[in-house]
Amino acid sequence: MHHLTLLELQQQLRARTFSCRELISHLLKRIDHHNQTLNCFIHVNHDHALQQADAADVALKNGTATSLTGLPIAHKDIFCTQQMPTTCASKMLANFTAPYESTVTAKLLEQGMICVGKTNMDEFAMGSSNESSFFGPCKNPWDVSRVPGGSSGGSAAAVAAQLAPAATGTDTGGSIRQPAAFCGITGLKPTYGRVSRWGMVAFASSLDQAGVMTRDVADAALLLQAIAGHDAKDSTSAQNPVPDYAATLNQSLIGKRIGLPKAMFDNLQIDLDPAIAIFKQQGATLHSVDLPHLALSVPAYYVIAPAECSSNLSRFDGVRFGHRCDNPRDLLDLYQRSRSEGFGSEVKRRILMGTYTLSTGYYDAYYKKAQQIRRLIQQDFIDAFQQVDFLLGPCTPTTAFKLGEKQQDPLTMYLSDIYTIAVNLAGLPALALPCGFQHGLPIGLQLIGNFFDEALLLNAGHQFQQNSDWHKKMPVGF
Ligand code: GLN
Repeated sequence: MHHLTLLELQQQLRARTFSCRELISHLLKRIDHHNQTLNCFIHVNHDHALQQADAADVALKNGTATSLTGLPIAHKDIFCTQQMPTTCASKMLANFTAPYESTVTAKLLEQGMICVGKTNMDEFAMGSSNESSFFGPCKNPWDVSRVPGGSSGGSAAAVAAQLAPAATGTDTGGSIRQPAAFCGITGLKPTYGRVSRWGMVAFASSLDQAGVMTRDVADAALLLQAIAGHDAKDSTSAQNPVPDYAATLNQSLIGKRIGLPKAMFDNLQIDLDPAIAIFKQQGATLHSVDLPHLALSVPAYYVIAPAECSSNLSRFDGVRFGHRCDNPRDLLDLYQRSRSEGFGSEVKRRILMGTYTLSTGYYDAYYKKAQQIRRLIQQDFIDAFQQVDFLLGPCTPTTAFKLGEKQQDPLTMYLSDIYTIAVNLAGLPALALPCGFQHGLPIGLQLIGNFFDEALLLNAGHQFQQNSDWHKKMPVGF
């Protein structure tokens, strides 16, 4: 059962090959067992999941089931859920259970999906390795001495180890695509505004976007369909109509123009040639494109994201919710000690950097300059989409690195997002796809689309997976 994709599970549940209770119990057992090694789940609510499974079995029997009824999913512990705590992998929220459900998880719940657990992540989604989690690092199922990537590392590891067929993630600078690449799964970061951010703990609000992590592209299309759309509760959520993503998956790629950004291929250490050859065989044409400001994306991001983070995280003050220090002497002491005890060191670094760049005298030199660079980066992409239909490049400069390898040096950690961050600064959609192995570790391909053109990315990704089998490879031992 655990090898099956969402669409396969949907068929088998309908055919009553197995019941939803059998499926969910099986996955919960696998989670209990493998989580000891992988540490990819922070919370599991067995009783609630099994209750939902029984309700799904009734719905499947009496014909009231909808397309997602009874399908399992894991949620990144950044989405507010009522049945389980929402910690953002921080001591600050270690005892927090939200009084409401996020739009993304509510939509999936209403459509009958069963949450098997909440997944580990970097604290407040700040990181690229899952090592900043208050609950300890998560491990990569392909090699447990290596990181699964981050910040949605628990979601990626859970899907790769077949503890859940799919998971939610969020992507502010690469947090869906980089762990998807490191764990050999499919990850979709939608256009900024395509999916509601309501109930998703905010890191950098102008960049944060919810998305999905699955075993293949067809499943990603199924889930995007279920979560996309306007939400009056998120002022930046888009009004654009949501197309039928499954309807265009099988379109031919003949004549599609693919752009290869030069800056992404200079000194590239991972081999994308076999993947590119597949698109050529499908009749797509390749074109070299320039993204002249790409190299500025990491510095611009590390001004903008911390600035927004310093503002967003000011709500954790020890007063309304979250960690509160013991016996505060006065209000200032309450703020200072609650925040110094509640936040880990990477989060503190971001808050300090962000507060600095927003302060009087430095605002123009750093924050305003970074925003101007952001506009230039976006314009580079707009210009590229005049010439091509979508872009193709790597997700990451290397395969999964060793636990501890980059922890002492934040700058090398930040650079592991060099190919993903520009996409967030521009607000574009992108899809990560498994496209090979290097020394036994998965490599990820990244397709970047024009605004709200998820349908084309999914179409291209699906055609790619119809003609390759890297997405079907699974790590041994799970
Ligand atoms: N690794 C990047 C950071 O640390 C991106 C994280 C994310 O996308 N949430 O900020």
